[in-house]
Amino acid sequence: MLESINRQVSTVHFADLELTDQRVKTVLGKIPRDQFVPEEYQPYAYENIPLPIGYGQTISQPYIVGLMTELLALKPTDRVLEIGTGSGYQTAVLAELAAHVYSIETIEPLAKSAQEILTRLGYENISFRTADGYFGWEEASPFDAILIAAAVEEVPPPLEEQLVNGGRLVLPIGTPGGTQTLWRITKQNNNFIRENKGLVRFVPFTRRK
Ligand code: SAH
Repeated sequence: MLESINRQVSTVHFADLELTDQRVKTVLGKIPRDQFVPEEYQPYAYENIPLPIGYGQTISQPYIVGLMTELLALKPTDRVLEIGTGSGYQTAVLAELAAHVYSIETIEPLAKSAQEILTRLGYENISFRTADGYFGWEEASPFDAILIAAAVEEVPPPLEEQLVNGGRLVLPIGTPGGTQTLWRITKQNNNFIRENKGLVRFVPFTRRK
């Protein structure tokens, strides 16, 4: 694994990534990504690459975290739903830019670890839940923005329902294990406007039995 990582390294300060939203770049430049990865991968925490976090999951590539965040077009008053907490790194980015983040993870030890790290770093505007994110978080809905960090084959209908009018949903749709298309879906008077934002590769969205 480390050998393949050594072939991928591409050092760039995260505040200098090719993104358009300066607020997102500033946040990426200040969050300590090394805190979110297992010790053995800490030397690679500031490379622009995904890294293993255990349980077959990965912390996303910083550029993709930034791109998805910028597509959500967050306002400081926004309430955001994140599906796939994973390491908690994307959660921190969202918590810096929105009023409150509701984050769902299906793998309990990852959910616990992310909660510990984010609490230690002082975030107080995040709620956590260990569950299948397919159903969203109805009691806390509606949300101004929803992000799914795992590859789905189609949009879970409960998530479209839990968006406000004008709300944005950013997610990878496509074959699990292959590449997917990153979409931004904007809800407008019960129409869903889809914008194709290019190819990405995410771990599969897994349903709970
Ligand atoms: N943004 C995270 C991405 C982690 S990978 C990070 O950078 O760390 C995607 C995560 O989605 C994994 O932790 C996986 O367990 C979780 N996941 C997959 N299917 C899910 C589901 N149905 N509900 C909630 N979380 C899910």
